[in-house]
Amino acid sequence: METKIKSIGVLTSGGDAPGMNAAIRAVVRTALYYDLKVFGIKQGYHGMVFNKIHPLRSQDVAATIQRGGTILRTARCKEFMTDEGIKMAYENLKKNEIDALVVIGGDGSFRGATEFQKKFGVPIVGLPGTIDNDIYGTDVTIGYDTALNTVVEAVDKIRDTASSHDRMFFVEVMGRHAGFLALRSAIACGAEAVLIPEVDSEIDKFINYLENGYRRKKSSNIILVAEGEKAGGAFQVVEKLKPYLQDYDVRVSILGHLQRGGSPSAYDRYIATKMGVAAVKALIENKSGIMIGIVNEKIVEVPLEKAIKLNKTIDIDDVHIIDIMNV
Ligand code: ADP
Repeated sequence: METKIKSIGVLTSGGDAPGMNAAIRAVVRTALYYDLKVFGIKQGYHGMVFNKIHPLRSQDVAATIQRGGTILRTARCKEFMTDEGIKMAYENLKKNEIDALVVIGGDGSFRGATEFQKKFGVPIVGLPGTIDNDIYGTDVTIGYDTALNTVVEAVDKIRDTASSHDRMFFVEVMGRHAGFLALRSAIACGAEAVLIPEVDSEIDKFINYLENGYRRKKSSNIILVAEGEKAGGAFQVVEKLKPYLQDYDVRVSILGHLQRGGSPSAYDRYIATKMGVAAVKALIENKSGIMIGIVNEKIVEVPLEKAIKLNKTIDIDDVHIIDIMNV
């Protein structure tokens, strides 16, 4: 099959995630390997609208695989959501003779990509880059594993002080709409409970534990709270639970933006590279409107529309594991 693609643009958009650089590097080098030109678009869709577009060479991505953040920088761009802005973006692609795009980002970025593709017919392949892991169609997203390790390392340290002082800590982790990060890290750091947006009943279960003298069993308690938990985060949860916490020395810790940073884990570097290679190969095969995902360690291609519309569900058995581990 003959490819229609001679030149690819790559951008990172929305929230940054560790491993985005590994993905950019893979896209650049795969494009060059197949004799395509490749351009970096700075600050996501902002760079497309305002023509912040530069050719990339192999050496431009040297020694970036181990770096956190994104060398192309990222942004949220409201102009791209207007008719005028999206047209400017298209004109800039034409001006730079870019035939196709690789968009690395979350579901918001994919929504933008789908609108753009529908309007101008530019082939686009998406790579899921978010620490939240909340994208349908892929077991993992770029950045999730690194963020998990960061949370576990931080909570291990909090556990030391919690045990020394016989305290109960409510630790808030990122996840505006999803509890993947909170749930998996709760298992990995031996948390006593986890409160996530997907499961309403956990807070009642937790109240039940408290009423039944939870304290007697433990010298420290760590409760992981996803920021998108229904009550509104760790401080709000503590407020709600106040009547039941009289016997406890309670502290709240918000892990915040440190969860986004840091050198990507080996696993994130691996999947980002594998996905980046697959994205360019898919464009060369004249595919478009898809997201590259990984299911059971193998590359899959998922329609972008599906990745945006469908919700990825948590594994409810993982919630039960927390109960079992706190027998
Ligand atoms: P993420 O990709 O991390 O979910 P956002 O939701 O902030 O991040 O989306 C990133 C950018 O994608 C937005 O700033 C905007 O430029 C673009 N975008 C999101 N939704 C749309 C849409 N419906 N139409 C056009 N552009 C969109």
